[in-house]
Amino acid sequence: MAINCLRGVPKFPFPTKPKRSTTNTHFFFFSSSSRKISLLVSTSPTCSFSPMSYDKDLAAAKKAASLAANLCQKVQKALLQSDVHSKSDKSPVTVADYGSQAIVSYVLEKELPTESFLLVAEEDSGDLRKENGQETVQRITELVNDTLVVEECYTAAALSTEDVLRAIDSGKSEGGSSGRHWVLDPIDGTKGFLRGDQYAIALALLDEGKVVLGVLACPNLPLTSFGANKQHSSESSNDKIGCLFFAKVGEGTYMQSLDGSSPIKVHISAIENPEEASFFESFEAAHSLHDLSSAIAKKLGVKAPPVRIDSQAKYGALSRGDGAIYLRFPHKGYREKIWDHAAGSIVVTEAGGVVTDAAGNPLDFSKGKYLDLDTGIIVTNQKLMPSLLKAVRESIQEKVSSL
Ligand code: AMP
Ligand code: MG
Repeated sequence: MAINCLRGVPKFPFPTKPKRSTTNTHFFFFSSSSRKISLLVSTSPTCSFSPMSYDKDLAAAKKAASLAANLCQKVQKALLQSDVHSKSDKSPVTVADYGSQAIVSYVLEKELPTESFLLVAEEDSGDLRKENGQETVQRITELVNDTLVVEECYTAAALSTEDVLRAIDSGKSEGGSSGRHWVLDPIDGTKGFLRGDQYAIALALLDEGKVVLGVLACPNLPLTSFGANKQHSSESSNDKIGCLFFAKVGEGTYMQSLDGSSPIKVHISAIENPEEASFFESFEAAHSLHDLSSAIAKKLGVKAPPVRIDSQAKYGALSRGDGAIYLRFPHKGYREKIWDHAAGSIVVTEAGGVVTDAAGNPLDFSKGKYLDLDTGIIVTNQKLMPSLLKAVRESIQEKVSSL
């Protein structure tokens, strides 16, 4: 007899002996925290035991992120065609941010009706519910309905403004180390979005504080490589753009086009000689210390200039070997949020990379909304990590002693 279709399987070894229920198809387990866990057991001789697969979760996450990306693309297209006055207006990003969150939340709840739904995300509907928010909610609702129309199963009735507000607020969660929490950045890299450059819809699932799957939709990222000579999406107009990266724990990282090509497995760069490596960093100097990255790169022997792009598209590009290193050193006092790194980090680690803080510690997503880390995040392959860490440590020491 084999076991399939498993939900909530505890980490091995099982903490308690399974008790058989009165039916011969269900087993119940009791974890050390007394959580009751049910296993559905099949008598099919062809199925073999496998722990929690997250297959349905991943399919739902891909669908949610792709639809949210469609909504963002519509808004960005209209924004780029608009006049200079409305380009300096921040409202398009507000509409796309809320719209993207509403879509992801709505799709996840529809696709996974049997799961309890908790979502850690940046937005809530507080401002939209104020009197001057009504016009914006109306616009968001129209956009959400226009975007969902391609999915026949969702279009039985158009969503009302109240449905959209509810979706934005649905499953409000602070994250943490127990249970399942979806983690969403509805538009990561809003500055890039407004400029017409890179941005991402970043969605991950935490289970017991660990990232178990991640999806990155990068509407402006070329399907081929994004190298040092292509800092803006407009400079790569001959390449097809729009990538969807996805990774599930233990199963590698894949990339497909946002319009649905077959997925291909991707791998981080195998470069061992830093002289051949190039590195990514934030486009915005306000988000990362460019002078510190440049000192680290110099110490390491990196010859290529930095590749500056917005958002977790950096993690996606790194996962397929476009560059070999990502350096992020926020200014003093900034606290990193989990939604800015959860999806990106699993996309890179499942592609064979390593993601740590500046002291070499793995990122801990189990502490709530914030990452509690030692200044900075660094990413590279396993071979380069020891020398990168050494260069980071020395450069930080030199910076401190020069103050
Ligand atoms: P990136 O495009 O990689 O620079 O990262 C974009 C993300 O940086 C945004 O989604 C913000 O959450 C985050 N961010 C905002 N302000 C700062 C800051 N002062 N330092 C570092 N990151 C920031
Ligand atoms: Mg962000």
